[in-house]
Amino acid sequence: METTDVVVIGAGFAGLVAARELGRSGHNVVVLEARDRVGGRTWTAPALGHDLELGGTWVHWVQPHVWAEMTRYGREIVRSPMAEEAYWLGSGAALRKGTLAEFTDLIDDGQRQIVADALMMIPRAVDPTVGGIHEQDQQSLQQRLDDLELDDEARSANESVWVGHVNAPLNEVGLSSALRWASAVGGHWPLMHEASATYRVVGGMSAFTAAIAADVRGDIRLESTVTAIDHDDTGAVVTLADGHQLRAQRVVMTLPINAVNTITVTPALPEAWVRSNRERVASQGFKVWIKVRGRLPRFFAYASGHHAISVLKSEFVEEDHTILVGFGADHSALDLTSVEQVQDALRVWRDDLEVIGVAAHDWMKDPLSQNTWMTHRPGQLTRDLRELQQADGVLHFAGCDTADLWGGFIDGAIESGLREAHLVSGSLTK
Ligand SMILES: Cc1cc2nc3c(=O)[nH]c(=O)nc-3n(C[C@H](O)[C@H](O)[C@H](O)COP(=O)(O)OP(=O)(O)OC[C@H]3O[C@@H](n4cnc5c(N)ncnc54)[C@H](O)[C@@H]3O)c2cc1C
Repeated sequence: METTDVVVIGAGFAGLVAARELGRSGHNVVVLEARDRVGGRTWTAPALGHDLELGGTWVHWVQPHVWAEMTRYGREIVRSPMAEEAYWLGSGAALRKGTLAEFTDLIDDGQRQIVADALMMIPRAVDPTVGGIHEQDQQSLQQRLDDLELDDEARSANESVWVGHVNAPLNEVGLSSALRWASAVGGHWPLMHEASATYRVVGGMSAFTAAIAADVRGDIRLESTVTAIDHDDTGAVVTLADGHQLRAQRVVMTLPINAVNTITVTPALPEAWVRSNRERVASQGFKVWIKVRGRLPRFFAYASGHHAISVLKSEFVEEDHTILVGFGADHSALDLTSVEQVQDALRVWRDDLEVIGVAAHDWMKDPLSQNTWMTHRPGQLTRDLRELQQADGVLHFAGCDTADLWGGFIDGAIESGLREAHLVSGSLTK
């Protein structure tokens, strides 16, 4: 049987970074990736006449792990367009149009009240299960918003902004997800918005992950789907869909929580993995790219948490067309391939837009991810995170779902890859 020091399962940011570090520490590493490409939930694909990010896109210098990688690989950022116009819904869902500054004023009170709790609930964002969060982790983001007693206009606006962030129905997502982000930026809500959706990586995410992959001293095998792991104190046998087997001293799994049950693990995965996989995490939405005819003024548009598309903004403005990007809480609310359905969803703001193309990847339907960017259900953070980070003998767990700081983000994926590479390397060289 083929043998190696470490098998890393998955070539997203977490797996690539873990493999790079382990290879640099002198260990033999084999990365097994089911897709025909590296990058996982980041993927720059040609569509609608542009190179579009179908998955993770925006990065920021307040995200320390991703920024270190940006520096290391000489990546630069470009700003997504500043909006000239904003649309939102007023009382009785009447359409409002104004400036971005007017919209910012509208949501300011709601945003401030939510993030005001952050530094008490999660005083150190790098230690997100310590603090008042233990008493509040059962609360959903919707419950917290309801407590604020905002008027209809401010309420819809705040709800849609949060849907854009957490990618889930707000009654299903824990307040903790909002508080973690806010804590990571010292409670400054405009910086939280900037950090999560403003600066793209020049050249695209796929070029970024290709640069990391080229730096891995080890073997990256694409189209290599792992179906089983059998492990004991002496090591693990990893079985692929084609029957090939590898024996390794350590295994690093980087699958998202929602997808870990696609591999048969013996003895079974720790209870926290089984439990959270069964429950699934909160995020369940979508990101869709929309091509509309004509050159439009750059705009942001917000509906409510209950509309199919809650947030819409222009991303590329050309002479004869504009490319918009939309986000909604429920991927099953919209056929992401249907021009007609997307056209209908835009009518909440404007009926003058002619949709001429749509592009998206439904990450919820993709068996290798079954999730977008992870946000927790109420209670999951404080109940499970620490256990999800624990190795089970020779089996280690990385992936953005297990990160301390920017859980669910690219930054968190990198953090987790570094963390596990350090632990595995230390245990192998003892
Ligand atoms: C639509 C969308 C928008 C996002 N926007 C942002 C953003 O703007 N900024 C940001 O920071 N983050 C964003 N994210 C989140 C970000 O993309 C993820 O946090 C990050 O890419 C996760 O990396 P990972 O390595 O932890 O997991 P993944 O990238 O999911 O990597 C896991 C890998 O394991 C592979 N795999 C699964 N099962 C098997 C198997 N059985 N055998 C072998 N391989 C397997 C998968 O194919 C995958 O390549 C977004 C995500 C989505 C989907």
